[in-house]
Amino acid sequence: MSRFRCPNCDYVYDSERGEPREGWPAGTPFDQIDPDWCCPDCGVREQQDFEALEGANS
Ligand SMILES: [Zn+2]
Repeated sequence: MSRFRCPNCDYVYDSERGEPREGWPAGTPFDQIDPDWCCPDCGVREQQDFEALEGANS
């Protein structure tokens, strides 16, 4: 699974958990999220702005 972080507010999207409140069920790969989707915490950054996190294998 992979994780991606918002460069503005440090919100992290975890593909294993998804983001059900935003309409992305658990297991939704980050690349299947709408590129126009905005960070649910700050609403400033979009999907394409997020940064991949290293060392997500746990
Ligand atoms: Zn954010």
